[in-house]
Amino acid sequence: MKFSGFSRDLLTWYRRAARPLPWRREPSLYRTVVSEFMLQQTQVATVLPYFQRWMVEFPDFRVLAAAPEARVLKLWEGLGYYRRARHLHQLAKIVAAEPGRERTPEGWGELPGVGPYTAAAITSIAFSARAACVDGNVVRVLTRLTADESPYPDGVSAARVLTPLAEELLPAQAPGDHNQAMMELGATVCLRRNPCCLVCPVRSYCAGAGRGAPEAYPKIAPKKVERMEVTRVWCERRGSLLLHRTHPDSRRLADLHELPTAEQAGVKKGTGPLLARKKRRITRFDITESIHAAKPAAVRSGEGLVWVPWAELDAIALSGPHRRWIAELRRTGGPAMPRSARGKSEPLLR
Ligand code: SF4
Repeated sequence: MKFSGFSRDLLTWYRRAARPLPWRREPSLYRTVVSEFMLQQTQVATVLPYFQRWMVEFPDFRVLAAAPEARVLKLWEGLGYYRRARHLHQLAKIVAAEPGRERTPEGWGELPGVGPYTAAAITSIAFSARAACVDGNVVRVLTRLTADESPYPDGVSAARVLTPLAEELLPAQAPGDHNQAMMELGATVCLRRNPCCLVCPVRSYCAGAGRGAPEAYPKIAPKKVERMEVTRVWCERRGSLLLHRTHPDSRRLADLHELPTAEQAGVKKGTGPLLARKKRRITRFDITESIHAAKPAAVRSGEGLVWVPWAELDAIALSGPHRRWIAELRRTGGPAMPRSARGKSEPLLR
């Protein structure tokens, strides 16, 4: 058989070369779940300090379940995709209430924030369920191994089509280690550009490397990038900064604070002096954000607007880029900014 011995060779390499990540060093169901949530759409290097802090403050499902949501979001601040934090919090409440929960991928797939990939990862690692994980790294490895010429419209379709092959490669023994080894291979050896084929433990099975152009796989249509322009408002009043707190039911940034957009603050676009222009990429959007100064009198009351004293800025959950921009504008002295202030957050009158 073409892939006979594949998993054995992969696992031999993994047990020797895997990075000693904290959720691997002392594995537990809770640590696996937290790491899988944090690693969705986020690189390992970014996750590491968040994971360490999280484990100190929320060492198990029970403690996390009992924590206030504002504190959970605060610890997640800067990791992005904040719905993950809220889902993890909801999941902890369910698991803490029923610790004998079913161990199958289907059972875990019913929990908040757990899709097929996360369910397979959690149950294969924690309970040795025979479920294959297919993320972007694994798609890359599988399409190269088989020199797969199929055009895929996106990564999700590719993962769906390749799942049977991933399941075929999965051994009955240690499926969790095999899944982690596939992901580790994609993350550290079978790189998107310049795969390290000469040191690859499964090179003898790889049709893509055999053809001399493994970078040609996978054949996934490039994402269409959309450009967006956003005008934001910088407005101070008596030692407080005007922010917008996102509605608790928001999909993306629930309960987080950001500099308000001109629409949220009811300010005419581009009227005050331009203080900064920032660019960032969120999923398929290339966003240019222009921050303009505004006078308090120009701001109309609106839902979610709050005046936050400078002294309280560290205590609230603020979106990562906005915290950086605010610190930068204060440091570089944009508008006059007091160093300290007193008082509580003050909602604008509706
Ligand atoms: S031989 Fe090269 S292309 Fe094939 S799996 Fe290994 S690193 Fe990837």
